[in-house]
Amino acid sequence: MKMLFSLRTTTLALIAMAAAIYMTTNNEIPTNAAEPTAANPLTEKWIGPYGGIPPFDKVKVTDFKPALEAAMAENLKEIDDIANNKAAPTFENTIAAMERSGAMLSRVATVYSIWTDNMSSDDVQAIESEMAPKLAAFGDKITQNEALFKRVEAVYNSPDKSKWTSEQQRLVWVIYTGFVRSGAKLGAEKKKRLSEINQQLAGHFTKFSQNQLGDESELYVELQTEADMAGLSQGLKDAAAAAATSKKVKADGIIRNTRSSVDPFLTYSDRRDLREKVWTMFVNRGDNGGARDNNAVIPEILQLRAERAKMLGFPTHAHWRLENAMAKNPENAMKLMEGVWPAATARVKQEVADMQALADKEKAGITIEPWDYRYYMEKVRKAKYDLDANEVKQYLQLDKMRDALFFVAGEVFDFTFTPVTNVPVFHPDVTVYEVKNKTTGKHVGLWYFDPFARDGKRSGAWMNAYREQRRFDGEVSTIVSNNSNFVKGKPGESVLISWDDASTMFHEFGHALHGLSSNVTYPTLSGTNVARDYVEFPSQLLEHWLSTPEVLNKYALHYQTGKPIPQALVSKIKAAATFNEGFDTTEYLASALVDMKLHLAGDKKIDADAFEKETLAALGMPKELVMRHRTPQFGHVFSSDGYSAGYYSYMWSDVITADAFGAFTEGKGAYDKDVAKRLIKYIFSVGNTIDPAEGYRNFRGRDPNVDALMIKRGFPINKK
Ligand SMILES: [Zn+2]
Repeated sequence: MKMLFSLRTTTLALIAMAAAIYMTTNNEIPTNAAEPTAANPLTEKWIGPYGGIPPFDKVKVTDFKPALEAAMAENLKEIDDIANNKAAPTFENTIAAMERSGAMLSRVATVYSIWTDNMSSDDVQAIESEMAPKLAAFGDKITQNEALFKRVEAVYNSPDKSKWTSEQQRLVWVIYTGFVRSGAKLGAEKKKRLSEINQQLAGHFTKFSQNQLGDESELYVELQTEADMAGLSQGLKDAAAAAATSKKVKADGIIRNTRSSVDPFLTYSDRRDLREKVWTMFVNRGDNGGARDNNAVIPEILQLRAERAKMLGFPTHAHWRLENAMAKNPENAMKLMEGVWPAATARVKQEVADMQALADKEKAGITIEPWDYRYYMEKVRKAKYDLDANEVKQYLQLDKMRDALFFVAGEVFDFTFTPVTNVPVFHPDVTVYEVKNKTTGKHVGLWYFDPFARDGKRSGAWMNAYREQRRFDGEVSTIVSNNSNFVKGKPGESVLISWDDASTMFHEFGHALHGLSSNVTYPTLSGTNVARDYVEFPSQLLEHWLSTPEVLNKYALHYQTGKPIPQALVSKIKAAATFNEGFDTTEYLASALVDMKLHLAGDKKIDADAFEKETLAALGMPKELVMRHRTPQFGHVFSSDGYSAGYYSYMWSDVITADAFGAFTEGKGAYDKDVAKRLIKYIFSVGNTIDPAEGYRNFRGRDPNVDALMIKRGFPINKK
């Protein structure tokens, strides 16, 4: 359910993104000076159909470094030309000129990020380690360019402001505050220190994620015999066997140390001893002592962040991070989380009681422990709702679900999707579709789909924008992609996915539609370039269409009989919709609260393990479960600044989501054309051209109300 932020086109946006996208270590690696630098296809303008397409067929890993260096140099020259312009600063010669700059770097970085995320290898990781500090320093060179900032400030204070369009006014505000937030107003000494902090942080972020990745890819639990596989479906057994083969381990199977291997094992394995072993391995990622332990790097990161926030005039890192978020300050975010927490933990108590009762009835002779939660939860689900996740899966074929996405896009967004074969792809698994407006036939953009897991591809699911829509200097259409990690079936066999996976497909497609619907002038404000605690709203909203009868009757077809999913099974899914919400909400909120509290602690020296223990004890964390991401493996927070003091965003967005879907249910339902039109006009098409709270009010006629979230999750509504 995580989105990889799109690469933005402009210089400023690239600076903002540098920390999130590029990883670094301080290891020196040999450079390949002999590589030719001439005629590097990565720096060339994109040519071909649809306004130009990424040259995936021409990528050589050895071209990345010279291409990035050439693109950074060109961008710095562009910025110098703007900063040293003799003419008085205007919107056109400063802000618009900045929007035009960085095009080459954007092109290079787009392709580069696909090789780091979808196609990684030792070669690519070595380049990443070398280039990340250079990219971080490059970003600081721009935000610390005094002549440039003086011009931006002059434009920001211009008396002409009222003559600009509202989008232009918003753009100037976004750019100006971005500079100030990055330290443009600091004196020379402090600027130098800030740049040091940013580069040190970049090093720590890389170390953190490499440690985590190391524990995830190198540790596993062996399944030696058929008895070790007890309870697993044939599909899970095959996957475990395939994992053993690919790791060259002599065992019937292995359970790898990743969520997609661990969660199904914890759900279905009858072997309590092995469940405990697998669970222990998974929750201790980054916390095992030795070279890959993350406990030393966490306090370093927190101290540097605290120092940076103070320097920039904020009491804590959390206050700095939330200034331009929809929540505005940590107090508002905490209020939401602490408001939901009691209902979530109360529900955990009920869930545990139900599970304990079932275990007692089976005469298991156990007390529910964290490694029992998923296993007994699944049993209670079957007993209470007669719902079998494996039965549901047989109706969810990957290809049909993809067609369901297109159907919803057609009905709600007025888009058509047509496969195209005249564009290069970076891997044979990738397919590309042209998106058009269904009514006018006008070209909208391209959608790349990379569904399958492979070595060198990061885990999870995400969306990218390869190019962002804009109307500035002529119309430019967008190129977006969805990425996931489904296990590829045998040739000719349907790939069956879980209900959760189908829901994630709709989620990521929601991000893609957000990009595709964009209708703005300037790239910095385009598509998904919105506040972190708002960006998950369009994507979470799309999840609602999966369970509509229109989708289920036409696309949830049995993989053998082709018959639609029976109404009785759908009713069971709906009845069980809020089942287990105690677990889901509590494990999420525990992480979100610890994240916020770590970043509200200021420059206090923190022992990560002790802080986590004390904070959870004070919150009254139920002992039967753990945080979704324990501190030493909390990549959202410590592998970049990305979601730091920002993990609350998922719930913040979900409050809006739950409230927004009410506009459909209060109308003619999920396919209400009038509500859909308003949704596109005020939410999906506007990017960051207006304040999100205002955009939402335009759509809904009022502010979002938290009650809808409580109802959606099956919790009692808080008394006011
Ligand atoms: Zn998302």
